[in-house]
Amino acid sequence: MTKVIVLGGGIAGLATAISLQREGIEVHVYEKTRELKPVGAGIMIAANATRIFNEWGLTNALKAKGHLLQQLLILSEKGKVLSALNPNPQPDQTIAIHRADLHQILMDELHATPVSLGKKAVHVLQEPKSVTVAFEDGTVAEADYAIGADGIHSAVRQQILPHVKNRYAGYTCWRGVAVCKDLKLGSHLHEIWGPEGRFGYMPLSSSKVYWYILMNTAPNHKELSALTVHDLSKKLQAYPAIVGDILKHAHEQPLIHHDVYDIPLMDHYAFGRIALVGDAAHAMTPNLGQGACQGIEDAYVLGKCLAESLEYGLQNYENHRLQRVNRICKIAKQVGVMSQFDSPLLCAIRNTVMRAASPSLLRNQTRYIYEYTY
Ligand SMILES: Cc1cc2nc3c(=O)[nH]c(=O)nc-3n(C[C@H](O)[C@H](O)[C@H](O)COP(=O)(O)OP(=O)(O)OC[C@H]3O[C@@H](n4cnc5c(N)ncnc54)[C@H](O)[C@@H]3O)c2cc1C
Repeated sequence: MTKVIVLGGGIAGLATAISLQREGIEVHVYEKTRELKPVGAGIMIAANATRIFNEWGLTNALKAKGHLLQQLLILSEKGKVLSALNPNPQPDQTIAIHRADLHQILMDELHATPVSLGKKAVHVLQEPKSVTVAFEDGTVAEADYAIGADGIHSAVRQQILPHVKNRYAGYTCWRGVAVCKDLKLGSHLHEIWGPEGRFGYMPLSSSKVYWYILMNTAPNHKELSALTVHDLSKKLQAYPAIVGDILKHAHEQPLIHHDVYDIPLMDHYAFGRIALVGDAAHAMTPNLGQGACQGIEDAYVLGKCLAESLEYGLQNYENHRLQRVNRICKIAKQVGVMSQFDSPLLCAIRNTVMRAASPSLLRNQTRYIYEYTY
């Protein structure tokens, strides 16, 4: 029986293991941390990924834990609607969910697959008929193929492509969850774009909301790292009242802060018996909410390609994925540039252009992203 090692137990690694398990391939996941603790608060799972979860029989679990999103609304700092998108090619396909719940759903599905914790891969040796992974604790594991699902700082990628370096996007990010029983949260993802930065929020339930803030700055800015929710709220006090209302309820939950990075567009995801999936292959800026969704697509396509041909499976996976993923990475970067304008003049010009933009142009782009099928 073909055996595959998946290195990394994030969303892409767990989804890859599910996809391979479904194709009857023996999988073993190795994760470096001793406890699976997803980093971040909420996440949007868009239609292109929920369609895959639906085929895997997981959408009921996602819907039970998450919250359906009807629209993606972008507003100016004065509260004017700049753009309104329907991300659902079919009803009820976009789900906001807490990352911990998503991880649990994926783990529960891995009934037939071992997940070993505390296993940090340090080297992958490729031989003509096998791969051997060496772990930091001195142990090794052997299989037919190894999949690097070890995130943006991927050790697997660094070993194969040491020249690929992470790039700072120019902005830093705070994220958290707020419990706001007294607020009407609705069923939309909102982003408010203004010169002071970007504020986004999406309901995780009728009383819980995932929020995030992105602000332009130099990397590793010490003063910004020390900001509290109260400080952030003061910085955005000119924004619509909902911003302060949400942040007022955010104090009791953990505040997550980190700078935003991506990696350059890649030419390859497959290297003989090794392939990369998820952020290890294509860490992108978070501006489309597609990083994890693309990792889920990777997982699905990799499973199908290996089931169709063991010999050419990894190469076929790369052929199917490269062009689409690179295009989505480029769009994400462009949206990041536009959404992070901090000059009032540029913001005013952008807002005018956005409000005048042809709905069909936006529709074509959303279709490309959300209506994917393999
Ligand atoms: C602010 C922000 C908001 C985002 N919002 C969204 C969104 O709404 N929707 C969306 O689709 N995406 C979103 N993303 C992107 C998404 O979070 C990532 O694309 C996704 O989590 C990547 O998953 P992954 O499994 O590839 O990597 P990771 O989540 O980084 O997982 C990698 C795993 O590998 C393990 N690991 C690392 N090194 C080793 C090693 N040497 N050996 C073994 N294990 C190792 C790590 O411990 C980790 O568990 C967002 C990103 C950011 C920054």
